[in-house]
Amino acid sequence: MSHFQRRNGQLHIDNVALADLAAEHGTPAYIYSKAAISEQFLAYQQAMGEQSHLICYAVKANCSLAILNLLAKLGAGFDIVSGGELERVLAAGGLPQNIVFSGVGKSHEEITLALRTGIHCFNVESTAELERIQHIAQGLDIVAPISIRVNPDVDAGTHPYISTGLKENKFGIEIDAVVEVYQRAASLSHLSIKGVDCHIGSQLTEIAPFIDAMDRVLLLIDRLSEVGIAIEHLDLGGGLGVRYQDEHPPAIGDYIQAIRQRLGARNLRLILEPGRSIVANAGVLLTKVEYLKAAGDKNFAIVDAAMNDMLRPALYEAWLDIETVSDNKQAKAVVYDIVGPVCETGDFLGKQRSLAIAEGDLLCIHSCGAYGMSMSSNYNSRPRAVEIMVDDCDSHVIKTRESRADLMRGESLLPDNH
Ligand SMILES: *Cc1c(COP(=O)(O)O)cnc(C)c1O
Repeated sequence: MSHFQRRNGQLHIDNVALADLAAEHGTPAYIYSKAAISEQFLAYQQAMGEQSHLICYAVKANCSLAILNLLAKLGAGFDIVSGGELERVLAAGGLPQNIVFSGVGKSHEEITLALRTGIHCFNVESTAELERIQHIAQGLDIVAPISIRVNPDVDAGTHPYISTGLKENKFGIEIDAVVEVYQRAASLSHLSIKGVDCHIGSQLTEIAPFIDAMDRVLLLIDRLSEVGIAIEHLDLGGGLGVRYQDEHPPAIGDYIQAIRQRLGARNLRLILEPGRSIVANAGVLLTKVEYLKAAGDKNFAIVDAAMNDMLRPALYEAWLDIETVSDNKQAKAVVYDIVGPVCETGDFLGKQRSLAIAEGDLLCIHSCGAYGMSMSSNYNSRPRAVEIMVDDCDSHVIKTRESRADLMRGESLLPDNH
């Protein structure tokens, strides 16, 4: 069900008018639908049925405490990539035993924190990391639960859009070399082998590459069993795509069905790490038109949100749907580039969009729930936006707008005599 509807010329998120939120809280503002986030998570949960599983929401997609708390209450686990994300999950009520820790650069301090916390599993990305975890775990006399992230080298010829599952990138360990790494892990005193992990990329819009990767990982699990290494869980990572423009990603239920079918009667717990597919289309960025400007044969709508608020268009040339919040019957439709105030030519949110707008009008930028706020910065000394969660006809500020004082926190001038 769509959580965004126009009634009497006013765009609503669930039963709240976006214009009312802008009037009360200002712009730019991130607005999320609690119902939309819950629905997406529950779609994963329900499709798993009887299958033993853990849905570990990928915190980096959107790390807001209120969102983590909402998901924790629904029974989510969490996929983290830093000590900061670990602290957030714990502060939001996430359970240590439902946390998996991914990432190629886990520091000594982060591994120590995770061991002391008692997380479910480290997704180990290199032999050097394996040795480091053993060393730290031995020092603390804690047994570290591990799985190894394998790089299944999914065929780029048939699936050219995959970016992290190929041999030549920094993630995981080559699948052909990994049995030896597992044997090494099995020989170490303070490691306990739990699973096999892979994550082949993001914004995948077909099921086939997931199944290809899974087939390779299942073969690996068989080979490990032959050498006496038992595997409890299969972590297939995240990466299911969403519709931004005209993509047709598989429905969550179909994706899970395909995975369950492939798993058959194997006695493996399934772990998934979805991020984008849970939050992307549950959130929008509200912004106000500051100026309309013509330059040569181009028209610009300069808005009060910018690349520091939403980096994806500038970074990936991502396309986001943009529409007016309130119908403007006086304005006529003109094709605009929607740009922010940041001093970069790359600072755009959308290009060549036909909109009937005037100065002061509000725009709604869709599909901003994932990799929006979590990738925001203070570039150009711009305070980060307010975040609001809508629950049917109520709304709650879940993070206040940063103040200008916040921007200077921790800074100091040099002493006079220097
Ligand atoms: C980013 C990431 C995810 C989440 O990916 P989405 O495309 O947002 O679902 C899951 N696992 C790992 C290891 C990641 O790096």
